[in-house]
Amino acid sequence: MTLLACPACDLLHEVPDLAPGRRARCRRCDTVIVSGQRVSLDRTLAMAVAVTVLIFFALFFPFLSISELGLSNSATLIEIALVFMSGWTAPLTIAVALTIVGIPFLRAAILVYALGPIRFGYPIPDKAAQAFRLSQALRPWAMAEIFFLGSAVALVKIIDLAHVGFGAAFWAFCAATLIIAFERNTTDSAAIWSLIDDME
Ligand SMILES: [Zn+2]
Repeated sequence: MTLLACPACDLLHEVPDLAPGRRARCRRCDTVIVSGQRVSLDRTLAMAVAVTVLIFFALFFPFLSISELGLSNSATLIEIALVFMSGWTAPLTIAVALTIVGIPFLRAAILVYALGPIRFGYPIPDKAAQAFRLSQALRPWAMAEIFFLGSAVALVKIIDLAHVGFGAAFWAFCAATLIIAFERNTTDSAAIWSLIDDME
């Protein structure tokens, strides 16, 4: 038995040790409090690997292309960011690039570092507990989805003026954003903490 608080409403529960694949839900609000540890680890690790690969891919492939009167131009995310890196927009660009791309990528990479060895039976990395704590602390700062609001507003403005095409990186980033949202709602940090504790 472990005493755990519901992550949504803080109601305390006495939770028995769960078999893999089983989950315990809050009595009051039905939020998942804890699920079988292995299932939880596999799911979080798989999503972290996918996000790392997708964001890395999204950096180097064309994100948007704009064509008008036979002329066309395409840009990667890095090129788009670099355009705004001079003058007074530079600090804002750095903040946006960090919250939209940098922190989501860093969080996913940290999760792969901390959880990968546990999953595959290797010795746990020295700083796994600190790394997992950091990834949890960064969670509110990973705001990939905000980017789509910004893009949508900008696209509505230019879509009448020119033909806008979405590149491979755009779709990769879409997929990463969806996975991040799903990961944020399904990662069972209590189960992962207990795995890390068991390994140390
Ligand atoms: Zn609850």
